[in-house]
Amino acid sequence: MPKKKSPGMPVQKILRKIRPEWIEHVGRDLARGMEVRAGFEQQLDRFFDLLEQSVTTGDPAWMDSILLDWAKSSTETNLEEGLYHVSFIINRMIALTIQVANETLTKQQSIDMLAAIIPVYTYGLGVVARYEMETRVAHISDEMQRVQKQLERIDRSKSAFISVAAHELKTPLTLIEGYASMMDDLARDARDNSMGKLLTGVNIGIGRLRTIIDDMIDVSMIDNNLLRLNFQPAQLGQIVDVLRKEIEPVMQSRSLRVESAEFEGSRQWIYVDTQRITQAIRNVINNAVKYTPDNGTITISGRMLPGFIEIVVVDTGIGISQENQSIIFEKFGQVGSVGLHSSGKTKFKGGGPGLGLSIARGILEAHGGAIWVESPGYDEKAFPGSTFHILIPARTESADPEMTRLFDTLEKKFKPNVETNTPTHNTAS
Ligand code: ADP
Repeated sequence: MPKKKSPGMPVQKILRKIRPEWIEHVGRDLARGMEVRAGFEQQLDRFFDLLEQSVTTGDPAWMDSILLDWAKSSTETNLEEGLYHVSFIINRMIALTIQVANETLTKQQSIDMLAAIIPVYTYGLGVVARYEMETRVAHISDEMQRVQKQLERIDRSKSAFISVAAHELKTPLTLIEGYASMMDDLARDARDNSMGKLLTGVNIGIGRLRTIIDDMIDVSMIDNNLLRLNFQPAQLGQIVDVLRKEIEPVMQSRSLRVESAEFEGSRQWIYVDTQRITQAIRNVINNAVKYTPDNGTITISGRMLPGFIEIVVVDTGIGISQENQSIIFEKFGQVGSVGLHSSGKTKFKGGGPGLGLSIARGILEAHGGAIWVESPGYDEKAFPGSTFHILIPARTESADPEMTRLFDTLEKKFKPNVETNTPTHNTAS
């Protein structure tokens, strides 16, 4: 088509000149391969009117109404799937406009027209892209909320299952414990002690089952905010001493070395639920034993921080990968295949049901404390080790005034002398 020369032709006139061609061309191109919407040509007519209006007034906001209508009419499904139809349409329109201009106008007219309408198109793209993105973000966040709700539902049913199963198992276990104890008495009276030996095995099994059931009950109490703390004055150093004694036999049998030292705050009286805090630290120390190979070292230390006392348990064991460092504090957060677990309380890698650390976290959080782990990674050959940090609030007041009085008496009586920092070793070989 020969290009006509019409220098100085106003842009409005140029637009009017290309309008029929533009509508025909754009209509044909965009309808191809797409779901043709009824009245598409009328829509293009309206678009062009507004385009002219924007150019005439210099205000691209004239386009807003049609752009938003189009963006809103783009189905949710398209946006959900990330198909940005309207952005695509505008982009295509820019290309087609340039093509129509080349075919219909002189070079000068093309330049003049494009200089006037490209900013309007660019503005339009911005409006549409923003709308499409906002819709997509809203959709994704709805989707995330839905998944979150689903996870919460699953977690609730998991927690309900644990609670029901634990209580159901507790009754027959109590019965077995009763009969086993009666059989113990009978075996003691009998001359032949072979029954006694068998019963020792049965009692070990009962003990393990009792621990697992108690852990399940603790987890369900933590999940349902039913953990009630019984605050009493305690010294963390004393708790560590008790736990050291507890693990001594296994330290010897597995040639492990435990190092612990007095630390600042270890003899300070603070209010904690002694039993629960002991349980939390025990779970961490038992894990250090379980996941450290024979001849390894476990170091228990601590320090005073503003408002808190921190206990640090370091082992020379298999370590924990970065991605598992938060998972292990979830219930059933055991790492690796359950089938490969050798169950045991102290055996190397004798994994349990994966409740220990979630209980420890529940107990510490109920106290207003925290627990976390640091480890260079998991390696069963290099044994990079893990460091567990246990943060316990150094509470010096009890809700019960009687307790506070008792606490003050204890503090006066046993005020810590100068802290010794000499490590005490317990090496077994
Ligand atoms: P489990 O009963 O399996 O020991 P826990 O909740 O006590 O459950 O621990 C969860 C998981 O965290 C364990 O299965 C283990 O994979 C990992 N883990 C815990 N403590 C350590 C540690 N000191 N070194 C290496 N891995 C550990």
